[in-house]
Amino acid sequence: VAPTSSVALDGRFARELPELAIAWPAQPVDDPTLLVLNEPLAGRLGLDPDWLRTPDGLRLLTGTVLPDGATPVAQAYAGHQFGGFSPRLGDGRALLLGELVDVDGRLRDLHLKGSGRTPFARGGDGLAAVGPMLREYVISESLHALGIPATRSLAVVATGRPVYRESTLPGAVLARVASSHLRVGTFQFARGTGDGQLLRRLADHAIARHYPQAAVAEQPYLALFDAVVAAQAELIARWMLVGFVHGVMNTDNMTISGESIDFGPCAFLDAFDPATVFSSIDTGGRYAYRNQPVVAQWNLARLAEAMLPLFADDQEAAVDLATQALGRFGDRYQATWTRGMRAKVGLPDGLDDGVDDHVAAALIDELLDQLQGSRVDYTGFFRALGVAARGDTEPARSLVLDIAAFDEWAQRWRAVAPDGELMDRTNPVYIPRNHLIEQALEAATGGDLDPVGELLAAVSAPYQPRPGLERYAEPAPDDFGAYRTFC
Ligand code: AMP
Ligand code: MG
Ligand code: MG
Repeated sequence: VAPTSSVALDGRFARELPELAIAWPAQPVDDPTLLVLNEPLAGRLGLDPDWLRTPDGLRLLTGTVLPDGATPVAQAYAGHQFGGFSPRLGDGRALLLGELVDVDGRLRDLHLKGSGRTPFARGGDGLAAVGPMLREYVISESLHALGIPATRSLAVVATGRPVYRESTLPGAVLARVASSHLRVGTFQFARGTGDGQLLRRLADHAIARHYPQAAVAEQPYLALFDAVVAAQAELIARWMLVGFVHGVMNTDNMTISGESIDFGPCAFLDAFDPATVFSSIDTGGRYAYRNQPVVAQWNLARLAEAMLPLFADDQEAAVDLATQALGRFGDRYQATWTRGMRAKVGLPDGLDDGVDDHVAAALIDELLDQLQGSRVDYTGFFRALGVAARGDTEPARSLVLDIAAFDEWAQRWRAVAPDGELMDRTNPVYIPRNHLIEQALEAATGGDLDPVGELLAAVSAPYQPRPGLERYAEPAPDDFGAYRTFC
């Protein structure tokens, strides 16, 4: 069994960017209980799952005992929250423990959430409750299993401490793994210090960690920005394709790496409605499903502003370069979305598949209109359509209201010879459905972890229907009502 000292935890972020790191200890946890451990992820990080279950392992997972030389830090960042700028946010209840090299040789942040107040805590208590941390675990692992870049969840440990929200809840610490925790807000913070050398060091750190090819580009910092634009355009398109609503796309919740991060009020669409908002605090619908691409581009404009001095000495020239790079978001977004939507309806990508782009686009647009009109369950419908590609239209037909319109559409769609196998590889059976998450988290908060385990098992292999998991593929019961999330 490995001792703590054999865990190689580096402190590269704090070493290279000390101005953005405040050394800070995790709050002691007297009575830790492991609620869930991601054994495959532990293995990829070179950590022995059996050791992580020991008292020493739990001390690492709560940040209370670390290998010699490791120093947890709270990271500084700024951010636009619902459009308003906060110059100083930072990790109020989180800590970066350090970086590990995984079995593929990639650097991975090991990070805690719910580890106590830090100097960035403002009015917050620094804590997290079991329910929301398990929620982040389930959703981040679901996105990962869907092939969508996301921070990962290594473990949730109950602290035995009460957390006071609207009611008294059991406390927990989430151990999170990410390719880094650099955010748009990190650049905004660095820019705000007025220290041009810090901004440059931050950009160099981001290039080395995420986009090493930018280092050899003619204009490395512009290449970095361009790479972030590309990564985010692809990410948001992929959220849209699976019906994911992030819910709080503030600039401090948008990564430089292109990984999804911060799973507070997020949720997946049930009925297809582009205006869907789940978050109870998003009263204006700023972060509605359909707004996500435009919000992402808005956030990237804030990143460009923060990076501006790095693009050119002349401000006007810098703005021109940034505007050009930002302008590539739309085409990139559209390309990923179109390729993904074509696959969802069984049309392979490629120029010589015989399906005209305009024909495909018209089929997709009309289908989405029909789904919206009938408020059809988004995830379930595309699986049913896969059955239709094989000849049995009944399951899909039974989901729509305007059957005549659907039949007319389906006739044109079948004429382009959709590929049912492609559809089954593309359209998930299992997503973390809102009513199932609520049931599972309620059970877990009361001490029963079985439903969370079963939900995790379903969403961790989302494309393969399995006997016994039927209820995980079904839409919410009618009496579930409008879903509201809280962060
Ligand atoms: P979020 O909405 O989760 O992106 O968080 C926004 C900011 O609030 C970040 O600076 C967080 O660290 C901080 N924060 C959120 N919850 C707490 C809490 N319970 N205690 C201290 N800081 C918090
Ligand atoms: Mg956040
Ligand atoms: Mg949050």
